[in-house]
Amino acid sequence: MDGFLEMVKIIALIVEIRNFNPNKTVMDKTEYITNKEQCQSTIDKRMPIVCSSCGGKLEPIKTVDNANNPTYWIGCMSCMKFDNGVSPRVYETAKYMVTERHFMAYREPMPEKEDTERYNYWLKSQIGGTCSIVYDILNFNPKQ
Ligand SMILES: [Zn+2]
Repeated sequence: MDGFLEMVKIIALIVEIRNFNPNKTVMDKTEYITNKEQCQSTIDKRMPIVCSSCGGKLEPIKTVDNANNPTYWIGCMSCMKFDNGVSPRVYETAKYMVTERHFMAYREPMPEKEDTERYNYWLKSQIGGTCSIVYDILNFNPKQ
């Protein structure tokens, strides 16, 4: 008899699995602090902006805020980080300062270029840090 009940439970489970329709569960009713469309709209309004580390495309990234509420923040999927973005002019200036003028925003020694992964991380980090400095310089107004 126990064997029979186990069999019924297994059949019921198989039926449930076979009837599972992933399309029915796609409807996302989550309440976001900032939803994807709002986040994308913020990016669109501030265009042209690029990732401050790689100069790439910014997009809404699903996350949770400090209070664990679901939300979307602006970020770069290529760098796997949140980033509010900078104008291409700020990014290009920062990149030039780091790659051509050896400017360093952080006192982190440059890894060997052959150590590609570490070097690229270092480069993105230096450019990102330099973007803040470039932005400050371009927006500094001593009369304020
Ligand atoms: Zn990036």
